[in-house]
Amino acid sequence: MTGHLYLVSLPIGNLEDITLRAIKTLREVNLIVAEDTRNTRRVLERYHIKTPFSRSYYQGVESKRVEPILSLLKEGKDLALVSDAGTPLVSDPGYPLVRAAIEAGIPVIPIPGPTAAIAALVASGLPTDHFAFDGTVPRKEGERRAYLEAIREEQRTIILYESPHRLLTTLKEIAKVLPERRVVLARELTKIYEEFLRGSASEILQTLDARSEVKGECVLLIEGEKRSAQKRKTESVDVKEVVSLLKKEGISNRTAMKILMCCLDLPRNEAYRLIHAD
Ligand code: SAM
Repeated sequence: MTGHLYLVSLPIGNLEDITLRAIKTLREVNLIVAEDTRNTRRVLERYHIKTPFSRSYYQGVESKRVEPILSLLKEGKDLALVSDAGTPLVSDPGYPLVRAAIEAGIPVIPIPGPTAAIAALVASGLPTDHFAFDGTVPRKEGERRAYLEAIREEQRTIILYESPHRLLTTLKEIAKVLPERRVVLARELTKIYEEFLRGSASEILQTLDARSEVKGECVLLIEGEKRSAQKRKTESVDVKEVVSLLKKEGISNRTAMKILMCCLDLPRNEAYRLIHAD
């Protein structure tokens, strides 16, 4: 029988943010596959977990590590994959291993817990019904600008991981490309100096400018584009074309008005103007 691959979420700062199931799993598996064993050791010591580590599994060596880890699983060993913080595979290594395990018929079991993206989102005050996690902002200036231009039309709340060194540059760029948008900076989540800054990118920049330095781990959230239902419905439709079609079909002005108002969400005066034009 093969072993199981558990994907175990660890705290993102506050060591108390760990589930009972995560502790139990980490105690019971044969080996822990960690990104950096030194970082994971702090959590394990806190919960008296004595399980040994396999060789570390970090970005850049993933392709070399997959086969040996897979062999252990095929031998029947249960393994827990953890990353330095939060949920493995969320901006962290693990994807090639999970793919290979699934292809080899090995059960892959998530042990859910903290992830900075979701913690930041739920307390951001931005819409949570639709959101997109885009990982990190491109580092090169041209690519960063192109990325921000590309999300202009995005209606979902965007979640980004950003380093404190690049934060100001990214905010300045957002202020240029998306000046009207509400932005939230979630810093040092679950830690002593946890902070949420809310406002436009320029307002947040003003607050940060007053500080000598910006430290800590950061999540940036950008409000999605708020287009009115009317704009959404009409932008893909040639309204004048619709009006001429209705006239050609002999539809009365009264009914045509109703169609434009109900189906295209046009305001009454706009529908009237279009129908009575020329
Ligand atoms: N796997 C992690 C997760 O589930 O959130 C993310 C790992 S990624 C390599 C590290 C980035 O996550 C940091 O640069 C920061 O953007 C974000 N992050 C992690 N912990 C955080 C925290 N406590 N507060 C704010 N952001 C955090």
